[in-house]
Amino acid sequence: MDNIDRKAAVADFFQRFDRSMTARLLLDYDGTLAPFQADRHKAYPYPGIMPILDRIIRSGRTKITVVSGRPVSEIQNLLRELTDFEIWGAHGLEHLSADGVYRCTDIDPNILAILREAEDWLSQKELLPITEIKPGGIAVHWRGLSASEVEDVQSRIQGGWDKFNGIQGVKLLAFDGGIELRTACPDKGDVIRAVLKTTDAATPIAFLGDDFTDEDAFHVLNGRGLSVLVRPEYRPTNAEAWLQSPQELISFLESWADIA
Ligand SMILES: [Mg+2]
Repeated sequence: MDNIDRKAAVADFFQRFDRSMTARLLLDYDGTLAPFQADRHKAYPYPGIMPILDRIIRSGRTKITVVSGRPVSEIQNLLRELTDFEIWGAHGLEHLSADGVYRCTDIDPNILAILREAEDWLSQKELLPITEIKPGGIAVHWRGLSASEVEDVQSRIQGGWDKFNGIQGVKLLAFDGGIELRTACPDKGDVIRAVLKTTDAATPIAFLGDDFTDEDAFHVLNGRGLSVLVRPEYRPTNAEAWLQSPQELISFLESWADIA
């Protein structure tokens, strides 16, 4: 994909934008709307993002959905200035509708037992301070550690968690700044499937994401909506378009606010 193709995909999307429909804008959070921070609880959106998202929501012509690996509660906290948007958290395990109805999918007891075993191992190795227990998953974060500390944690995890690799129903997910052991279902592709099921075929829809876990979503959306990789640097992807963040992301959202 060259620069012309990725720009053409965005221009084509806005050109075909059917203003008679309520559009759907689906957004990953970390690395997409918000730059990474050593303290992940302080990873707020890039300057300028919040007013544009608010403007898009207030127009009443686009439903905004945040699709994140974080629990719903963390997204609510980080975006507390924003109202009237939907959240899929924990890779789609949790859902909070725009009018505040929450539900969480039950997790298989066998998978819960595996996650507990992984947590016990982390506890024995005194890695709990960098561990996050999430719905359906357990993540180890190494952002903010020194290079040698990261290497040490990675090799210990590799040794201790290797036995979970390949077990049916769970998966090891490398993400930007850590690794997570979690239930294999749902993933962000399942979120897109669920959204499309309740969305008219003529509805303009786009999903923006940065990480490997977003590739499932890009794959499912392709052929139906606009898939966009958002990153400061390009990498090979299933997405049809690439926006260099934050400048091109902000321009894209402004165009959306103007057109929708
Ligand atoms: Mg991300």
